[in-house]
Amino acid sequence: MHLYSFIPSVFTKGNLCHCNICGYKAKFFLKRGHDFPIIKALEIIGAGKRNVDCIQCGSSDRDRLIAAYFLSEYNNNQLAEKKLLHIAPEKALSKLFKNTFHMQVTAADAKIGYAQFLYGKNVLEIDLCQLPFQSATFDVVVANHVLEHVSNASTAISEIARVLKPNGIAITQVPLSKKIKQSIEALPHWDKQDKINHLGQSDHLRLFGEDFANKLSEHGLKPDFWQYPPNNEMVQLGLNANESLLKSVKM
Ligand SMILES: [Zn+2]
Repeated sequence: MHLYSFIPSVFTKGNLCHCNICGYKAKFFLKRGHDFPIIKALEIIGAGKRNVDCIQCGSSDRDRLIAAYFLSEYNNNQLAEKKLLHIAPEKALSKLFKNTFHMQVTAADAKIGYAQFLYGKNVLEIDLCQLPFQSATFDVVVANHVLEHVSNASTAISEIARVLKPNGIAITQVPLSKKIKQSIEALPHWDKQDKINHLGQSDHLRLFGEDFANKLSEHGLKPDFWQYPPNNEMVQLGLNANESLLKSVKM
């Protein structure tokens, strides 16, 4: 629950904004992100200062894009009992997977203390580059803005592919710039300011470019882009018209 939830709803309730995860309809979304120069210069998608956070559940535009995909493409029964590995599990999104789609959710993060504060209980502490699961365990893996943080993106992608069943789906949203052909990896000597200057965030280890889809293909995932129709609902959901959902199918 967000602190803004304690403000009388007469100040927040409205019809301009709609959260497809918790159902809240509001006059506004809350601000998130930073306006570092590199974000504008490289037009990094999935970053930057913007009014996108739900007052009630705290979901961001990135979370609602994932919710929109599942709500558009699947009915409530199609995913029932399907096994989902949810990495860095956004609390609101996790609830949607459990309560609306009745999926069997395994929630996991690299740092359990941080994760419990942000995401709630029952989160496993795991290394995405060394997943403690047998091959072909999961029907779906969701790692929303995670691959820019891990020590080795290629290893993490191969692990995601390994634990997916054939025809399983990976949702791997990342900060992405279509202005760069090749992803930029942080150099070992870069400090936090260097990372802000080159990658757009102090705790990122890379910025993905146009080669991101190829990186997924190299590990047996077939990437496909899904786009929310650019209509009034998209505006109400606070989605970025330039942000596609990258879903990959395990071959
Ligand atoms: Zn919400």
